[in-house]
Amino acid sequence: MSAVLAAVPQPRDTDARDLPHWSEWLVGQLDPHWRADEWDGEMNIFTGSVDNPLTAAHYCRVVRCTAMVEAFNSYCSACEYHRRKKNTEDRADFAETHQPGVRYARPVGKAQFTLAPQSATVRTEILYALQQRDQMEVILVPARVRHLTGKLPAGLRSLFDLDPGFAASLEKL
Ligand SMILES: [Zn+2]
Repeated sequence: MSAVLAAVPQPRDTDARDLPHWSEWLVGQLDPHWRADEWDGEMNIFTGSVDNPLTAAHYCRVVRCTAMVEAFNSYCSACEYHRRKKNTEDRADFAETHQPGVRYARPVGKAQFTLAPQSATVRTEILYALQQRDQMEVILVPARVRHLTGKLPAGLRSLFDLDPGFAASLEKL
């Protein structure tokens, strides 16, 4: 997780607190067309596409299920719950035969993350980091970004305002 943070460049200018200038400069570095089918820049929500090999997003292993999971060939939590309740002999073709029930829509799904609660500067910093990682073909795991953003202090103005020990305090995912 600290790798995302590490991909944010140090402000070139001497004063990292000059946020308007820093933020403006960083916005200029962003690719406005970044992952156009996954990133909604108006809502600030990322929804992973199963068609992007650089995203950890796959359909649930159950053929009729449309839920997204992060690990290839795995079951969503609802299907896994039903699979566990089955007898062993019924589990063999579970993926082919299970009929998922009504699914409750969740505000942020498995293959999603939102940057809406973050300040404009933090949002830009994270997007920049993710775009840099794309250039290195690092797979984007939405849960890791969710984990990171969930740990950011409320009202954070810039990632550079984080305590030096913050990255180390994140759980390894
Ligand atoms: Zn499922």
